[in-house]
Amino acid sequence: MNLFDVKDRVIVITGATGVLGRAMVHHFAEEGAKVVILGRNEQVGNQLADEAVKAGGTAVFYTTNVLDKERLEQNYADIMERFGRIDVLINGAGGNMPGATIAPDKTLFDLDLEAMRQVVDLNLFGTVLPTMIFARAMVEQKQGSIINIASEAGLRPLTRVAGYGVAKAAVINFTKYMCGELATKFGPGLRVNAIAPGFFLTEQNRTLLTNPDGSLTPRAETILAHTPFKRFGEPEELLGTLQWLASDASRFVSGTLTVIDGGFDAFSI
Ligand code: NAD
Repeated sequence: MNLFDVKDRVIVITGATGVLGRAMVHHFAEEGAKVVILGRNEQVGNQLADEAVKAGGTAVFYTTNVLDKERLEQNYADIMERFGRIDVLINGAGGNMPGATIAPDKTLFDLDLEAMRQVVDLNLFGTVLPTMIFARAMVEQKQGSIINIASEAGLRPLTRVAGYGVAKAAVINFTKYMCGELATKFGPGLRVNAIAPGFFLTEQNRTLLTNPDGSLTPRAETILAHTPFKRFGEPEELLGTLQWLASDASRFVSGTLTVIDGGFDAFSI
C-alpha cells in the first residue's frame, strides 16, 4: 500500500501560478492527482494547465481572486461540475506587498496602514474565504485535507514586513482553530495543517532579497548568515511535506505547522 498516494485526488491550489504554486501543480499532476489551478492571470494559468496535461496529467485552470466571494463561488460550482469533489485545498495565494514594506530609513510611525490592511486581507482573509467555500465539499464527503501556507514571518517577526508577519501568524492560529472546528463538528476525516516555508526566491519577495542586477541585498545576506543550510529553499523542497499532508500518510495529523526553512527557525548563534 502506498501511504503517500494522491492518485485521482482533486487538489485545488490557490495562487497556483506563482513560483511555489507552479512546482505544486507540476508535482501533483505527475502524481496522478486532478489538479485545479486557481490564479489571477488567465494566460499564465492556461499555459500551466497545458504543460501539466502535455506531461500526462490532469489539470484545469480557473481565474480567481481569493478575496472575491462571488468569483470563488463560481470556481466552486465549476470544480464540482467538473470533478464532483474536492479532496485537498492548498491555500497558496499570498505574499508581501511592496507598499506594506517599511523602508530601511523609516519606522513603524511611517507605516502605510491601508497597505498593511491589504496584506492582511490577502494573506489572512485570502485563506479564510476560500476555506469557507471549498471546505463545503469536504464536509459533504466527510473527508478532506486543507493545507495553509504560513511563513517563518508568522513565527518570528521579521523586520520591515509587520503586516505580512501578523497575517501569517493569524494563519497559523486559524489553522489550529479550524482543526478543532472541522473535526469536532464534521468528523475526523477533515484535517487542516499549515506549512511555514523559510526563504524562497519568488515574485512577492524579489525586491526585498535581490537588487535589480540580481545580486543579493544586505537583507538577503543577513538571512543566509542566519540559515544553517546557507542557501534559499528550492520550490521542490516543499513537495515532500505537501504530499504527506495531502495523503493518508498524515491521516491522524491535524492542526500542525511544519517548518521548511533550512534550519533558520531553530538557529540562534
Ligand atoms: P508568488 O508571488 O510567486 O506567488 C503568489 C501568488 O499569489 C501569485 O500567483 C499571485 O498572483 C497570487 N495572488 C496574489 N493575490 C491574489 C488574489 N487576490 N487572488 C488570487 N491569487 C492571488 O509568491 P510565492 O512565494 O510563490 O507565494 C506562495 C505562498 O507562499 C504565499 O502565501 C507566500 O506568502 C508564501 N510564502 C512564501 C515564501 C517565500 O520565501 N517565497 C516564504 C513563506 C511563505
